Amino acid sequence: MMKKLTILLSASILMLTIDCGLQEKADLVILNGKVLTIDKERPTAEAIAIKGENIIAVGTTSELSALVEKGTTKVIDAGGRLVIPGFNDAHVHFGPLDPDYIELRYTTDPSTITGKVRAQVARSKPGELIRGGHWEHEMFIDKKWPTKELIDKVSPQNPVILSRADGHSVLVNTYILKASGITKNTPDPFGGVIQKDPVTGEPTGILKENAENLIKTGEVKAERTPEEEQARIWQGYLIALKEARELGVTSIQIPGSADFSAYEKLQKDGKLTSRIDIGKELTSDTELLKKYLELEKLYPKEGNWIRFGYLKAFIDGTIGSGTALMFEPFTDNPATSGLAMMPYEEFEKMVVTADKLGFQIGVHAIGDKGNNWTLNAFEKAEDENGKRNSRHRDEHAQTLQPSDIPRFSRLGVIASMQPTHCISDKKFCEKRIGSERAKGAYAWKSLADAGAKLAFGTDYQVEPLNPMEGLYAAVTRKDRLGEDGEGWHPEQKIKMEKAIEYYTLGSAYSQFMEERKGMIRPGFLADIVILDKDLITIPENEIMKTKVDYTITGGKVVYASGNNGPLPR
Ligand SMILES: [Zn+2]
Repeated sequence: MMKKLTILLSASILMLTIDCGLQEKADLVILNGKVLTIDKERPTAEAIAIKGENIIAVGTTSELSALVEKGTTKVIDAGGRLVIPGFNDAHVHFGPLDPDYIELRYTTDPSTITGKVRAQVARSKPGELIRGGHWEHEMFIDKKWPTKELIDKVSPQNPVILSRADGHSVLVNTYILKASGITKNTPDPFGGVIQKDPVTGEPTGILKENAENLIKTGEVKAERTPEEEQARIWQGYLIALKEARELGVTSIQIPGSADFSAYEKLQKDGKLTSRIDIGKELTSDTELLKKYLELEKLYPKEGNWIRFGYLKAFIDGTIGSGTALMFEPFTDNPATSGLAMMPYEEFEKMVVTADKLGFQIGVHAIGDKGNNWTLNAFEKAEDENGKRNSRHRDEHAQTLQPSDIPRFSRLGVIASMQPTHCISDKKFCEKRIGSERAKGAYAWKSLADAGAKLAFGTDYQVEPLNPMEGLYAAVTRKDRLGEDGEGWHPEQKIKMEKAIEYYTLGSAYSQFMEERKGMIRPGFLADIVILDKDLITIPENEIMKTKVDYTITGGKVVYASGNNGPLPR
């Protein structure tokens, strides 16, 4: 019996299904793909068969063609395109977006901005604030900073604020400059710049950093009934979910709390297209913790859609604002070594108390000392409560002293990292902490080499939600313009296959789902994306241009680009 079973298992899937007489037909089949399964037992394949929410077979196109039943099975011909597990963003501040926000990301022609502002003004009452952003002038055809003239003529009676992609500068119109009293004679505030025309000396409409604090919008607030307000929030959720599925993000892990009931309503309405984990704030209040245990029963780990995630705490701030908790003072400001959000003893008590009740804990830790404290507290919890499969998480794990790197693996702590932070922050990071400490910054390769489990995410909306940017950052460590050279601390670069693995299987592990999500393997949830470019072979300047052609969540095609010909029947 045993021997027969082994023979059967080693035969191809087609043979197995025929031999067992279970030639189950699929609901959806993907053929002719370059399938990167992230499954060590079968790293590549051509085809995937799906029934209901799950993958039922992985194999060659000829094998799985047999599972197609004419007239009922939908077929996607991947045409040689790359097929990978759906992206699982392990750290994303996801929630309803402002339905009126003007999205300007990836704009190349500045005149588009004029058109979009004109359209939004037409939908608004005079005096209502118009907001938008994510423009990046380096992507404009002329690569020039935009000026107020671009929007003034279409917004004479409305204040307009359009943020740059990095959130560090804004473009405002003349309405705002007037309301704020900003003229050619206004001096730059401390830590800010009012950009001025070199010829006329007039403000151009660009306000950088602290100059944004001068803004007085002079807006007339929109009046809405509670019902209108509710409808806007609902619409905001739909916009956010649309963005996620268009980017191939099939799983979302929200650090801290969010509205469970809103997602439940979305699911009931058939609108939930990404799986959601939601947590709560870490506390040592045992009464509150008991309530969280009840909540966890409602949204258990065994669920696949809306689940209770982990308890989140902050131990420090950020490098950018000089509030990351460091062992030694900042290189560019020796007066400070950052800020702890609470005394260590209090933090440790919270961790030990929540750990004892079986919670998973995730701590925002940026500075080397903040990370050290986080690991110390997790270690203390293990000492006091015993070793268990706790999978506590170090959210960001941004700067580490070398001796702390092996502790991740030893303590089973997950390094939950956001590769785009590295390429956004590297410019000022080295200035702030110096070259020696920078060696332990965003050190995903060192962590992986030391046996740590990694999970990748974005920290959206701090960074864009697009996983391609994170993959690009992880494998190049270069800025988004593709600077020359080998990248920042190139010894920390990893291979694309690994970056995808941390963004799929690694993230699934961080939420205790690696046995049913994050790989393309029979029995696993059918969360799959098909991409328009082969991330494994394209040059690095093509990575961020890669787009999703199909997103499949739980066996359902939730997004198909216009790039596919007719949709599968
Ligand atoms: Zn965050």
